[in-house]
Amino acid sequence: MKLVYTHQSLIMVAQAKSSLDQLSIRCVIHNEYASGAMGELAPIDIWPELFVLHDRDEERARIALSYVSADSAAPEWSCKACSSLNPATFDTCWHCAADQCLPA
Ligand SMILES: [Zn+2]
Repeated sequence: MKLVYTHQSLIMVAQAKSSLDQLSIRCVIHNEYASGAMGELAPIDIWPELFVLHDRDEERARIALSYVSADSAAPEWSCKACSSLNPATFDTCWHCAADQCLPA
């Protein structure tokens, strides 16, 4: 088995698994229930982890998942005006409406 993906959110890991399922890559989630309630932050050592069952699928899985993470796991950005964390999909700060590209 090879670890191909991990994320603090089980939702993200489950999404990654369904992408691999679509490609008929056999995979399992570990630590599925370790992080408590959905959305709750967990220490990194108990993040849900996605493993492929067959080592030979590792590369194919990583390529497939690089598309998934480009779509939906872009890094959050922190507002230069008020330091709030914003999802990558927001162009302006949810808190103070400052532009993401505000000069520092
Ligand atoms: Zn802000």
